[in-house]
Amino acid sequence: MLCDDAPAGSTITPEADRPEVSLQSRFPRVGRQRHPEGSVVHIGDVPFGDQSFAVIAGPCAVESAEMVDRAAAEVASRGARVLRGGAFKPRTSPDSFQGLGLAGIEMLQNASRAHDIPFVTEVLSEAMVDEMEPLVDAFQIGARNMQNFALLEAVGRTQRPVMLKRSFGATPTEWLLAAEHVAKGGNDAIILCERGIRGFGDETRFTLDLAGAMWAKQQTHLPVIVDPSHAIGVPSLLANATAAAAAAGLDGVMVEVHPAPEHARCDADQALTPEMFEALMQRLRPIAKAAGRPVSTRGRIAENRAASLE
Ligand code: PEP
Ligand code: MN
Repeated sequence: MLCDDAPAGSTITPEADRPEVSLQSRFPRVGRQRHPEGSVVHIGDVPFGDQSFAVIAGPCAVESAEMVDRAAAEVASRGARVLRGGAFKPRTSPDSFQGLGLAGIEMLQNASRAHDIPFVTEVLSEAMVDEMEPLVDAFQIGARNMQNFALLEAVGRTQRPVMLKRSFGATPTEWLLAAEHVAKGGNDAIILCERGIRGFGDETRFTLDLAGAMWAKQQTHLPVIVDPSHAIGVPSLLANATAAAAAAGLDGVMVEVHPAPEHARCDADQALTPEMFEALMQRLRPIAKAAGRPVSTRGRIAENRAASLE
């Protein structure tokens, strides 16, 4: 594979792309050789990568204070450990709803405090990183920014965990090399998130690359989760896809849940109702347990803490 900016006709292959180059030098910061037992990354007090299976849920976009408060209540009471919600939305069309910006972040903070659940939200530009750092529990880097290297390196200089989504046009190797850019700044609290790649048909929104996510889990020490909402886009398929991610040995999922999907301003067709989210959690629990990575619960953490204090 040639480097994007290799001169035409060049046969020079960048070192990191040569198959014979050891994984150690290909992924010096995020490769599994660095922490063979795997690393645990926390969003707030919620661990990812500790052999439990953590669920992140919430609306595509923050639409109002009331709506995000209700969404937080619905998902937290049903077992989500982290709230999601976009305040800065990367929309394909410039005429679509772009999010509420910093006002939306304040609404997330309030909902997060009221329901005792940390949140993750997308940062769209390098210019916003410093301002957002003290306000958010975790930065999300969206698929469209996976190779925005200045943004990756800027979040890599912060103290916040980074959820790095895979671009729908990137190979797993390019995804891990994007994580290297984050880690280069000193921050290796990175959670990888597979969110579907371009396939052929439009029966599902993208193609959930479970094998690519499993490969990433094998090659790196980073926790790996999947986002079946964006990958599949069909609410009725999300419960089994979530269970499959647990059975595949991955560390969690992120799903979109809206208190009233028919009114959603963004990704309305793929949002789960709170009741569908409840059914997803019920489907997930026994399968995750059987796969040896029980669904993360507040109780379990309290139990683990109590055990470690004994
Ligand atoms: C999102 O999760 O809000 C989102 C925009 O997803 P993606 O970047 O994967 O398209
Ligand atoms: Mn969305």
